[in-house]
Amino acid sequence: MEDCIFCKIIKGEIPSNKVYEDEEILAFKDINPAAPIHILVIPKRHITSLIEIKEEDEKLIAKIYSVINKIAKDMQIDQKGFRVIVNCGEDGGQEVGHLHFHLLAGKKLGEKIV
Ligand code: AMP
Ligand code: ZN
Repeated sequence: MEDCIFCKIIKGEIPSNKVYEDEEILAFKDINPAAPIHILVIPKRHITSLIEIKEEDEKLIAKIYSVINKIAKDMQIDQKGFRVIVNCGEDGGQEVGHLHFHLLAGKKLGEKIV
């Protein structure tokens, strides 16, 4: 999608610090990290938000979790743990309108999610 910042990152028009890439999925470091490790995992195909996920996207979404699993092992945060967050819509605090999974780790995260 033309005006989407994450689509521009996928196309290489905006630089990013990539940690994983395949034909369908990209993961890169969040520019404003909320934890020592803060990675965004996104589908390369533009999906605006979680609420736009369709039945035909089920395999892709499952694969995103497999990629998160792989990244967690590669970055050696699998033992100590991590958190995955998806913000959706205005009340959910979603600022970028391209589906993304926040992977947070590297410290004991707060107990509350709000
Ligand atoms: P959300 O509030 O869930 O939409 O999260 C959007 C995230 O994208 C925020 O954590 C931002 O710091 C991050 N972000 C925005 N622009 C960039 C960028 N160019 N490169 C990396 N992360 C970004
Ligand atoms: Zn996009």
